[in-house]
Amino acid sequence: SFQQTQDDVIPRYVRVNTLKTTLEDVIDYLKREGFSYQGTASRLEDLDCLSGKTFLRDLHLQDLLVFSAKTDFHDHFLYKAGHIILQDKASCLPAFLLNPQVGSHVIDACAAPGNKTSHLAAIMKNKGKLFAFDLDAKRLSTMSTLLLRAGVTCHQLANQDFLKVDPQSSEYKEVESILLDPSCSGSGMVCLRDEVSEQQDEGRLQALATFQLRCLNHALQFPQVQRVVYSTCSIHAQENEEVVSACLQQNPGFRLVHLLPNWPERGHEPLSQCLRASTAKTRTHGFFVAMLERRPPQTDEEN
Ligand code: SAM
Repeated sequence: SFQQTQDDVIPRYVRVNTLKTTLEDVIDYLKREGFSYQGTASRLEDLDCLSGKTFLRDLHLQDLLVFSAKTDFHDHFLYKAGHIILQDKASCLPAFLLNPQVGSHVIDACAAPGNKTSHLAAIMKNKGKLFAFDLDAKRLSTMSTLLLRAGVTCHQLANQDFLKVDPQSSEYKEVESILLDPSCSGSGMVCLRDEVSEQQDEGRLQALATFQLRCLNHALQFPQVQRVVYSTCSIHAQENEEVVSACLQQNPGFRLVHLLPNWPERGHEPLSQCLRASTAKTRTHGFFVAMLERRPPQTDEEN
């Protein structure tokens, strides 16, 4: 059975929504409420020392604050007003790494409930076009509420199967960046782990991996796409490195980008360009991120 140890305790991460406020304003607000700001973390172990009302700024992500595991902001004004987003650190990586340009066209392929969409919009400063798709109408309606609260305005939501979105449609002709965070086993979620981990039904994993690979291949079909970030909250190589390897084999025009050289946990060999996350090594839920980029056109000398 599942035993909680020190390593299993995940701190509470709070992303500052820069569409509505600033890091400084959130820190000041919390200080006035009796929280004690300890500055920017300098190493992972600093996060283990958080208790009561102390908080830190994250080591890797600028707009992320870190609190002790017991802190709950669900009833807090800053959360209700959309000034802060309650989002695990690992799930902030995809939008941060994709880093779309202000004013660019971006697709969030499997977007609901939309935390990554709102993060993308913040990076884009609400300028440009953010096409967000999801198959599940109920999750999309939750997403509308969340985006409204977060002040996101550059999005266009569609209740649509991403696999049926036509890459040749003129609507998407300027899309350069795609975030793909498809359905997965969820085996990285610490709260689910004891229920699903060892006994993941092999057939289910295979079906998920097939779906994930189809989505990733589909993302690469958009004519102007330069960068695709693929992420899951799964710890299974079958849904992570194996999907990415198969995709690269089928799409020689794309290659992996070496992500965050200082990040402590890498994709399984040989895909060390990718990132993994875990409670033990990164104090987050289990997570995987890969970034594929289009290879530059070959010059005559290289041919
Ligand atoms: N990116 C979201 C976020 O950060 O809030 C979480 C996405 S969740 C891991 C995966 C989503 O994919 C689910 O909401 C599911 O409904 C959606 N989905 C599953 N199959 C899909 C498909 N074929 N096309 C579009 N969305 C799909």
